[in-house]
Amino acid sequence: MSDGCIFCRIVAGDIPCHKLAENDGALAFLDIMPLSEGHTLVIPKKHAQKVHEMDDESAQSVAVLLRKVAAVVGGENYNVLQNSGRGAGQEVLHVHFHIIPKDASGNGLSVKWNAGETNHPQLAAQAEKFRQEL
Ligand code: AMP
Repeated sequence: MSDGCIFCRIVAGDIPCHKLAENDGALAFLDIMPLSEGHTLVIPKKHAQKVHEMDDESAQSVAVLLRKVAAVVGGENYNVLQNSGRGAGQEVLHVHFHIIPKDASGNGLSVKWNAGETNHPQLAAQAEKFRQEL
């Protein structure tokens, strides 16, 4: 548990949430400011700020619960969003995956996708660099 972390306090039961489901390492509950009906957050019970800072057990628990909950709340179309880091829009500094249904009226996540040009030599060089680090 991290001091002052609102999601750690939810996991601990110190503050309430609209809980949907949980497993050993993860919890799913409704977002209190939903973009659409069913907007859900799936979080690890063990505190970590960013995706890569979760341990393998947390990552597995979150992935399993994410799939299970998405099958129920996601409907026909949905987005899964995860912000890691303030610069990426993370406001609550405890890992959380948003499941955001896209309803028939268009409510849900709006994404501006500023795609770059395809450059295979550049992509190959980048992939080689990242492979070395992995
Ligand atoms: P992010 O910008 O990815 O960090 O998103 C944080 C999300 O947490 C927002 O969508 C908030 O509405 C949501 N949120 C903040 N506090 C609570 C809370 N107590 N219960 C449920 N959702 C919350």
